[in-house]
Order: sequence, then structure tokens, then C-alpha cells
Amino acid sequence: MPSAQRREAPRGQAIAERAARVIPGGVNSSTRYIGEPYSFTGAGGAYVTDADGRRYLDYHAAFGAILLGHNHPVVNDAVRSALDGIDLVGLGVTEGEVRLAERVVELIPSAESMIATMSGSEATAQAIRLSRAATGRDLLVKFQGGFHGWTDSVARNVISAPDKAYGRDPLSEGILPQAIDATLIAEFNDLDSVIAHFDANPDRIAAVILEPIPHNVGALLPTREFVEGLRTLTRDRGAVLIFDEVITGFRHALGGYQEVVGVTPDLTTFGKGMANGYPVGGVAGRRDLMERFNGRTGDVLLAGTFNGNPIGCAAALATIDHLAANPDFYTRTHELGARMRDGLAALTAELGIEATVAGFGGVFALYFAKAPVLGYRDLMRNNDAAYIAFHRGMTERGFLMLPMALKRNHISGAHTAEEIDQSLEAAREVLRSLRPLLEV
Ligand code: PLP
Repeated sequence: MPSAQRREAPRGQAIAERAARVIPGGVNSSTRYIGEPYSFTGAGGAYVTDADGRRYLDYHAAFGAILLGHNHPVVNDAVRSALDGIDLVGLGVTEGEVRLAERVVELIPSAESMIATMSGSEATAQAIRLSRAATGRDLLVKFQGGFHGWTDSVARNVISAPDKAYGRDPLSEGILPQAIDATLIAEFNDLDSVIAHFDANPDRIAAVILEPIPHNVGALLPTREFVEGLRTLTRDRGAVLIFDEVITGFRHALGGYQEVVGVTPDLTTFGKGMANGYPVGGVAGRRDLMERFNGRTGDVLLAGTFNGNPIGCAAALATIDHLAANPDFYTRTHELGARMRDGLAALTAELGIEATVAGFGGVFALYFAKAPVLGYRDLMRNNDAAYIAFHRGMTERGFLMLPMALKRNHISGAHTAEEIDQSLEAAREVLRSLRPLLEV
């Protein structure tokens, strides 16, 4: 149960003030600043504790990096044993790296071999460079609303304002303009928008990259025809199909969302939940493509001091082994996800609020927009102010959710049905208080 007790002195605010003096904006990743709570000091299971001693039921899950629950004993024990053996040598290969790659090859339909990186951004950057090398082409197609990390090729057109959507909407200054222009934007669930790019740029598109469920704008569920269409199109036109499973991988099914949808991409990228909070990412895929990373016979640079480090590999292997040995993780999180989604849908209907509840497995998203929500175009009708107020109300009641409108929330292996029901009770109060803002 979240707790409302606080210490007398606002310690979190003092830490935030110190942070602002030495860290630009006071946080190390731009979307982490939400005002109060400013700073966290503890995490365990489904809960996190802020610097003022207040406990929150955590649906934020470190943007999805926490899958089994915080500080999971099985994962932490594996990390401790790894630390007792070896830190970092940087030559040859450790058995942990081999075991991790073997496990991924065994479980992920598209994986014939694998490389380990430190983050999801590194994984997608490697997959994109590999696609360009393998095809000898320059352009990339991504979808409006998809996020694939902070590197130049993909840092554009995520949560775009309506006047910027589908246009030129880089996430940062300082990106090489040619890199921005080499990425074409399409509409999710609209195969014709992808075909149009191929038709307009014959023999120039190296890859199509997608989050199979674009969770960076909540949960747009793909139609099977769309994903199958992408598979056929990329194959016919000589481009690489990349599934970015940084969020969906291991979370929705042991074989990733590709197993659920039954479509096998050429390359798959991983990160986040794969190691339950420890920094690891990876690229897996077709052997003929992946062999380009072979330092002796290939031509695509694979480098990284911390790639395949023992701590990350031990955490990833422990997480994946735990999931494989406990398939009830999936039945449980899927059931709890459905309980939350059904509960929110019933609440908004009861209160006469125009909203759409979306999600898959243990992920849920609340859009303040009328159904159907299939692509980004539908999301431009979202009432962002209402979501921000909803988030604030839930946080004040001890339920931590992603602070940005259009993002998703996560149910981990540590959440319980009772906690879902408590969350729904709090949501009822918050939604009721928002009703004047939201009535149809
Ligand atoms: N791909 C997806 C789908 C993501 O959601 C993210 C991060 O949010 C990334 C890639 C980048 O991963 P990282 O933050 O580990 O660099």
C-alpha cells in the first residue's frame, strides 16, 4: 500500500537544488524531471521510496526497465556472484556472454546470433548501421511516434505537436541535418504510407524500423496485416526489417512480440527489461547480416569497452532464466493488465469521460481521446492537459506513472490484484475530480 507519511524536512527538494547546481536541469535524462517527488532513495518489489520517506506503487518501472519487480533477489544474487568472479578484462569472451547469446538464440524467433551492447540506443544504432552496410543504401523509414533512442538517425518525430507531426521534427539541436533527412516518417498501421516512401525512393531504403507496439506513445496495437505487409514489402524491395523490442522484448512474451504476432524480422534490438534494471542491450538477427560484425571477416565495426560486461550479462541471463522457469509471469501480468484496463474503461464510462484505454500484457495506457486509436493521427486528438492532471493526482496519492501524456505504464511481476484495485480506487477519485475538464 502506498504511504502518505513524509519526513518533516523536504530532503528531496534539497537534493534537487544541489543537483540543479551541478547537473544541467538537475537530472541525467531530460524526461526525468517531474517536480515533486524529486529524488528516490529506495526500491523493492512493486514499490519505490522517495527521499522524504514516501512510498509509491511503481508503474513507471524506470521507463520499462523493471520487469520482475525492483531489486529482484534472483537477479541481484546473480550480479553478486558475477562480481565475486570477474570484473572486466576486455579481451576474449566470458562464458556469461556466450550463455546469454545462446539463450537469446534459443528463445527469439529472429535470432541466429547476437551482439551485446550497453543500452537500447546503442543497439538500434548498430542495427541501422548494419542495415546500411548490408544494403549499400542510405535511407531509413521510421514511424511517427516511434522512439528508438537518442542517436542522430532516429531522434526525430516521437511525440510531435500536430503542426510538426510527419514533418521535420528533430528531438535536438546539433544533429547532422543529413542524418535527420535520411530518415523518412510513415504512419503506423498504414502500409500505404510505407509503400509511398519505397516508391518515391527506389533502391534507397536500407531499413524499416518499428516498435512492434509503439509504447512510446502508449500502446498502438498493430494489425496483423500491417506487420505481415511490412515483412513482405521489405523482403520484396531489398530492405532490412528491424523490430525494436527494447520495451516489448521479454515483457510481452519470452520470444518477444514477434512471437505473438508471428512475423519474423531480419534484426531485433533489445534493452530495458531484458536485465531487470541493469544496463544491457543487444542486437540479434539473421546470421548472414550479423556476420558483418565479425571483426575478422566482416566490415561493420563492433566496439565497446563495456559490451558484454559480466554484470549486465549475469543480470540479463538471470532475468531471462527466471522468466523461462516461471511462465506464470506472463499469465499473471497479462491478467493484471486486463484487470487494470477493464477497470479504467469501466470507470471512464461510468463517469462519462471521453477516453480510450489501450495496452497489451502488463502494459496499459489511458488516452483522453475517443476510440479508435490506431496511429499517431488519432493521438493528436488527445487531451494532454487532462493526462498531466491525472498523472499529478495519481502521484499525489502514491501511484507513480509515466509523467508524459501518451506514454504507457507497466505492471511488473511484483504487482498484485489488490494493488491494481487500490490503484483503480485512486483513479476513480482523480478522474472524478477531473470531470469538469473532460465531460463529453
Ligand atoms: N528503443 C525503444 C523502443 C525505447 O523505448 C528506448 C528507450 O526509451 C530506446 C530504444 C533507447 O534505449 P536506451 O534508453 O537504453 O538507450
